[in-house]
Amino acid sequence: MDGPQVKCVVNTCTHWLKGDLCGAGNIDITHEEEGKMAQNPEHTQCKTFYQRRGLANTLGSLDNVNWGGLLAKTFLPETQIYPSVTCIVNSCKYWQEGNKCSADKIDIVGMNADECQDTNCYTFMLKS
Ligand code: SF4
Ligand code: SF4
Repeated sequence: MDGPQVKCVVNTCTHWLKGDLCGAGNIDITHEEEGKMAQNPEHTQCKTFYQRRGLANTLGSLDNVNWGGLLAKTFLPETQIYPSVTCIVNSCKYWQEGNKCSADKIDIVGMNADECQDTNCYTFMLKS
């Protein structure tokens, strides 16, 4: 698979799955403040975070779901599924041209988050 494996502990997100997996089709990692280059993990966010609030809310995020992965997981529960990653945090040493992430694995943190700003890409490392 292209891109990093995604481990996420943000249990309040509608895309979150047991086993700290993410069922989104693609996630967008961005600087927390527009126009301000991230200097540490706290300055990053998972913009795809979508608060789990009920059915109507869940339906709103259905256009970004890894259906193939979820189907595979239904039949083989131990299947690990990962979204593709688009990242614009170009102050990170793992950032690559084309808004790609070259890390093998990323950790998204922010347990009990209420909004995107409460989440972070913990794998961020400032480019030297
Ligand atoms: S916070 Fe981001 S990485 Fe985590 S489950 Fe939600 S969309 Fe996926
Ligand atoms: S490790 Fe760096 S390049 Fe990869 S998603 Fe996180 S902030 Fe973006």
